[in-house]
Amino acid sequence: MQDTTGRIAVFATGGTIAGTAASATDNIGYSAAQLGVQALVEAVPALAGVPLVTEQVAQLDSKDMDFAVWATLASRVAHHLAQPDIAGIVITHGTDTLEETAYALQRLLAPAKPVVMCAAMRPATALLRDGPQNLLDAVTLAREPGARGVMAVLAGTVHSAFDVRKVHSYRVDAFGSGDAGVLARIEEGRVRRLREWPAGEPLGLDLAGRGWPWVEIVSSHAGARPEGVQALVAAGVKGFVVAGTPATAACITRWKRRCSRRRPPA
Ligand code: ASP
Repeated sequence: MQDTTGRIAVFATGGTIAGTAASATDNIGYSAAQLGVQALVEAVPALAGVPLVTEQVAQLDSKDMDFAVWATLASRVAHHLAQPDIAGIVITHGTDTLEETAYALQRLLAPAKPVVMCAAMRPATALLRDGPQNLLDAVTLAREPGARGVMAVLAGTVHSAFDVRKVHSYRVDAFGSGDAGVLARIEEGRVRRLREWPAGEPLGLDLAGRGWPWVEIVSSHAGARPEGVQALVAAGVKGFVVAGTPATAACITRWKRRCSRRRPPA
């Protein structure tokens, strides 16, 4: 049975779900982040009777997501989560960095209420657009009693913030949860949960005004050369996340040991 008393806060950030194309048959030649939150909600007649609070937090193609928007989003989500009459939160987002925002919000806030991200693979002008159904499913999940944590819903499939990843650049069902498996499914307005809701302790970081250290992600590959990493170090990078093979990890450990052996005595 859904929570029909609490309000749902809907935050919009842009993405394809708010995108428009010149032709209804064009699913790829569109501009993202064109429609505002009100237009997204009005495209779903079934939301007419649902008590919603709406807020336009950003209006961008999510490839342009940055720490400043994350800080605003996290503080708006935290603010609304603290309101007793808010049952859950829905965030509309682009698909490109959805998994990053989902993970960041889960780690920062570990919400005790549902925070549901949704997106679309086709623009709002498409003949068979997926955004309105995804938004309706997200509101359904945000009203589910007992639901908690950050999740993402697309194509009727719910993923935990810990596992969600974009696995296809075109299909409407473009997200997966890897080995962990799907968290739940939304079937005709009902939530069928398959695993535990995402949980954990919040990191308790206050993002506002915080200077983020510069960290880059680098990957190893056959024939990888050190010059790229050296250039970043010379430019002042503060840290790396290395997407490498087990051998890369072993190399870093050997390199760190060598460095510590070379360190001059204090
Ligand atoms: N480039 C778009 C974005 O991430 C793609 C999408 O929303 O599907 O905002």
